[in-house]
Amino acid sequence: MQVSYWYYRCNILAAVLELGDVRQMSISKWDCRFMAMAKLIASWSKDPSTKVGAVIVDDKHRVVSVGFNGLPHGVSDNSERLNDRETKLRMVIHAEENALLFANRSVSGCTAYVWPLLPCARCASKLIQAGIRRVVGPANGREHWREENEIAVGLMKEAGISVVAEEHQQSRRKNSLEEIQAHWAERWGQQDL
Ligand SMILES: [Zn+2]
Repeated sequence: MQVSYWYYRCNILAAVLELGDVRQMSISKWDCRFMAMAKLIASWSKDPSTKVGAVIVDDKHRVVSVGFNGLPHGVSDNSERLNDRETKLRMVIHAEENALLFANRSVSGCTAYVWPLLPCARCASKLIQAGIRRVVGPANGREHWREENEIAVGLMKEAGISVVAEEHQQSRRKNSLEEIQAHWAERWGQQDL
């Protein structure tokens, strides 16, 4: 993937989940970069089933904080705990929560990039409360997440957050950074980069 790839603006066919409509939204080269970064951060999670990454960025494209899902510091993330779904879900801190907790400055007015799922309802509430103004991520494809998604997106939109959700489910299955960059470039019609 050539570096020059990132120097093109591109358009995304985005789904605004709450309304179920689809509209053309403009995103920038920075959106492409930070989505790839969220994908990278997600890979650091030790969660065996779902690895999630979040990147919080200010309006000057400076990274304010990053986070991935995991158990709290000082709590052993051994495989016994991580593979016991019920126990894990009680203990785990979500990527968005970690990103908010580790921000050492205000995130008011910032954009949150999330991968490979949009925020859950609890995280959506926290992002709202922290002053996040825009959320970018892939639309969630899993059926059991649909209701959670609708609640979360509804909350964020009601609070005035702009939600950009890429609608193509295949994007979540890409494994390498090169694959995800190529996928998003294809979706946005920028194949000859
Ligand atoms: Zn969450």
